[in-house]
Amino acid sequence: MKFVINNNVFNELDKYIDFTHKVCILTDENVSKYYLGYFQGYPNVYNFVISADEESKSIDTYQSIISFLLDNYFEKTDTIVALGGGVVGDLAGFVSSTYKRGLNLISFPTTLLAMVDSSIGGKNGINFNGIKNVIGSFYFPNKTIISLNVLDTLPKREYNAGMMEALKTGLIGSEALYELIKNNDNDNLYKNNKKIIKEAIKTKTSITKKDPFEKGIRKYLNLGHTIGHAIEELGLGLLHGECVALGMIPFVSKEYDIVSIIHKLIDFSNLKNKKIDCNKIIEIIKNDKKWINGKLHIVYLNKISDINYLFLTEEELKGKIEEIIYEISIW
Ligand code: NAD
Ligand code: ZN
Repeated sequence: MKFVINNNVFNELDKYIDFTHKVCILTDENVSKYYLGYFQGYPNVYNFVISADEESKSIDTYQSIISFLLDNYFEKTDTIVALGGGVVGDLAGFVSSTYKRGLNLISFPTTLLAMVDSSIGGKNGINFNGIKNVIGSFYFPNKTIISLNVLDTLPKREYNAGMMEALKTGLIGSEALYELIKNNDNDNLYKNNKKIIKEAIKTKTSITKKDPFEKGIRKYLNLGHTIGHAIEELGLGLLHGECVALGMIPFVSKEYDIVSIIHKLIDFSNLKNKKIDCNKIIEIIKNDKKWINGKLHIVYLNKISDINYLFLTEEELKGKIEEIIYEISIW
């Protein structure tokens, strides 16, 4: 798989995308406003614009895209460009992997989260019956194009939430990435973008290559996600990366002061007047695959690259959740 990382690729798209075959640009309504226009001067371009929310990762949208491709006689040699964040990427990946058993896929991530996380590793998926990513496959793009200038239009809150996934990847496998994020100057966040993105891609790629189908070490990438997902389900209006940040707090050795890194980037003040219900989180987690024989199997980071599992009773889990609630209260 090829990676292109440049400051701005929009004036030379034909250098990276083959427009001699049909190309469907799958994007969302926000991203399309800024970037879809750049594709329109080229031949064989088709657009499919979805609404910019998680609801788009649905069977309905999936069917509409498949119909659109059929109506326009897309063949296996044609291409889908996933121009957007993780929502577009997950949907485009699933469409590409299933349409005629495999269409060319170009990943063109436009959020930091998609650049450092969701576009790497080949996972895709759509939601069904209220369950996230329950239908999906592994399918790798032929190429990934990162144009750093798209981050100029990304809301800062989205950017910072994406940085939490990069922080997680750094903790799991790269001291250099952790240091870059820790020392990143808050007033000039974008200064180190290229280095951070490259190091995150390198680290996540090396982990997923060793364990492509998540049978072993790839599971470490779930650091922060078990409690993070449960907090997400509480519907408090937090972004995924923000929930993951909270979910990591009790599971990273205090040697790494991740609370101050998170504090620098994420604003949780809006949570002060909302209730984080410890019992609800526990109820959600008891339905998680990682709750086995009355204990939660959860990843704990001793040191960078040194990870093990904890097996928590309900009482111990409660203590960990209370630690997060306490951190928020003194934020
Ligand atoms: P997203 O795709 O919803 O994008 C966030 C918001 O930013 C949207 O409103 C979007 O329109 C807007 N946006 C995107 N790029 C922009 C730009 N350059 N300028 C202005 N606005 C822009 O969110 P996300 O955080 O990128 O992705 C979340 C999704 O990714 C979830 O569905 C999650 O399940 C999935 N995910 C998948 C994996 C994987 O391995 N496949 C990993 C993590 C997350
Ligand atoms: Zn995540």
